[in-house]
Amino acid sequence: MSNTKSVYVAYVGGTIGMVKTTSGYSPASGSLQQQMEMIPELRDERMPQFTIHEYAPLLDSSNMTPADWIQIAQDITDHYDEFDGFVVLHGTDTMAYTASALSFLLQNLSKTVIVTGSQIPLVELRNDARPNLIDSLLIASHYQIPEVCLYFNTRLFRGNRTLKINASGFHAFDSPNYPPLGVVGVDITMDWSHVLPRPNAPFEFSRISTQPQVGQITLFPGISVQVIKNFLQPPIQGVILETYGSGNAPDKDQAFLDAIKAATDRGVVIVSCTQCLYGTVDLDAYATGSALKACGVINGYDMTREAALTKLYYLFGLGYDSDQVRTLMQRSLHGELTEPNAL
Ligand code: ASP
Repeated sequence: MSNTKSVYVAYVGGTIGMVKTTSGYSPASGSLQQQMEMIPELRDERMPQFTIHEYAPLLDSSNMTPADWIQIAQDITDHYDEFDGFVVLHGTDTMAYTASALSFLLQNLSKTVIVTGSQIPLVELRNDARPNLIDSLLIASHYQIPEVCLYFNTRLFRGNRTLKINASGFHAFDSPNYPPLGVVGVDITMDWSHVLPRPNAPFEFSRISTQPQVGQITLFPGISVQVIKNFLQPPIQGVILETYGSGNAPDKDQAFLDAIKAATDRGVVIVSCTQCLYGTVDLDAYATGSALKACGVINGYDMTREAALTKLYYLFGLGYDSDQVRTLMQRSLHGELTEPNAL
């Protein structure tokens, strides 16, 4: 049966379309499209029609900034009505940040958006680019998944639950605290029970008007209070504090607690996210967690640092004040966290 659907491909950059240079792999304009023309399966009638929009310049995703997330969201918005689905070809290094950011920027999605890429470029004989590309195009055209997804190595994930877990293997992404939305094997098997419900409001791009100051601190034994104090200086607005285990920090270090409290009193939103891959923050579980709560630190539950950071950026970017950001950070906006009564 022929596929009458159309997919818009936003080619942002990444290894998938890179070529070898004397200083390592680097993006090269037009190369991906040339390689794609040599893949007969892409012209099979069961494949969707697709249009590729190559960004200029193509980027290694290590060079990407929030301005790029906004550009991709704008691009999808501009073409939203014309296409049935969207595939974003992107570098793997910061793909989880972009997928998370897009999940907040694209409100009331009713069409599938898939972010994908590869660990080996399409130009190489042996690569993971080809299956990731073909599978993403098929899924984006066959299924109406009202979410921003990330597809990699046979698994379709909720984008804002993902992180890069492997610098060299094909199994480069995982979603430790949420099951895959779909698995590609002999068949493509979707798990609709884990997909977000369809929206009952029209699609819109949630435009960010400011450039908020947000950041991230990873705790380690012996971290200097001076470093924390410096980091929390104005103009910082929000910080992800990567804590131990279920949200713990040194409660015997009064100077550390004082520095945290002074910042939250000034309105800095400090969100506790765990350094662990699996599980959730519970600031009431240990005295070392409740000491942080008493200093005004809020619960990031089981959010990845990628989701928490992009969400902070998004909420402050929309112009919300600290109290509103504190409230919304602890609620699931697009399935990025598991609220306690659902645990
Ligand atoms: N450095 C590359 C990038 O993130 C890695 C990749 O695409 O796999 O763009």
